[in-house]
Amino acid sequence: MKVLNFGSLNLDYVYQVDHFVQPGETLSALAQAVNPGGKGLNQSIALARAGAEVYHAGCLGTGGESLGRLLRDSGVDTSFLFPTEELQGNAVIQVAPSGENCILLFGGSNQCISPEQVDWTLASFSAGDYLVLQNEVNNLPLIVDRAYERGMKIVLNPSPFNDKLSAVDFSKLSWLFVNEVEAFQISGSREAEEAWQMLHRTYPRLSVLITLGSAGSMAWRTENGETENAKQDAFRVRAVDTTAAGDTFTGFFIGGLLENRPLQECMRRASMASALSVTRPGAAGSIPDRREVEEALGKAV
Ligand code: ADP
Repeated sequence: MKVLNFGSLNLDYVYQVDHFVQPGETLSALAQAVNPGGKGLNQSIALARAGAEVYHAGCLGTGGESLGRLLRDSGVDTSFLFPTEELQGNAVIQVAPSGENCILLFGGSNQCISPEQVDWTLASFSAGDYLVLQNEVNNLPLIVDRAYERGMKIVLNPSPFNDKLSAVDFSKLSWLFVNEVEAFQISGSREAEEAWQMLHRTYPRLSVLITLGSAGSMAWRTENGETENAKQDAFRVRAVDTTAAGDTFTGFFIGGLLENRPLQECMRRASMASALSVTRPGAAGSIPDRREVEEALGKAV
């Protein structure tokens, strides 16, 4: 079984500022950095570091060559990454001294996926293979429909949550991965168990994973009409930067599913991977590899 991630790649332009720029104001930044980003890229790297055979599909824009290289160097297959003339998708991120940020996102190349590209890519995957999606690329409803016809197991992380998702047929998904905020946006409930019940009533075959930050995670796996539930506490660590915690969890959780590990073990491995990631600054660079995660699990009580 292999994993295809049809996902976004971004260049993150990060500016340290003493306050967020106001309407009409010209502000000098205190420092600047350009980092690899995009939920798709982070999740593909997490999948590869978890040991999965992972293929990243999408569009690589002008200026984004370093992102393709980073994926390859991390062990991700980029044969389905198409070059386009469009500018690479990017984010302009202002970070205030309080650590708060505000983000301006430009889809660019991430919005250039054509229907032909979808068909051509999916032709190399078959029933039982996993497809991972976030809401940062175009043609999401088409990708879901075509992958479902092929019998792929579709995992959707509906982030960022917006109106475009209403065109996606959730009954074709195998798994929905959400954080606390997205669970509320989808179900209208702030309580994880209640959110799952509402989702289960509408989509009885859907499995659901809800991550709750430092409060841990909960999952309900439904197969052949039976639902199995598991809850995992977060490992206690000194958090310095929680960027990509959810993406790291996603990669290692799917890595566990691919190895047919029991549900609780998938969650434990994913929790340790994301706990390690929050102890380090940055996004892609903070994702641990499988060996580190197993070593840390060996020491944990
Ligand atoms: P997202 O980054 O998508 O918002 P969460 O904040 O829910 O996702 O985090 C995903 C997972 O990462 C959590 O379920 C937990 O296992 C782990 N995690 C997040 N924050 C911490 C933290 N401060 N300490 C330990 N683990 C954490």
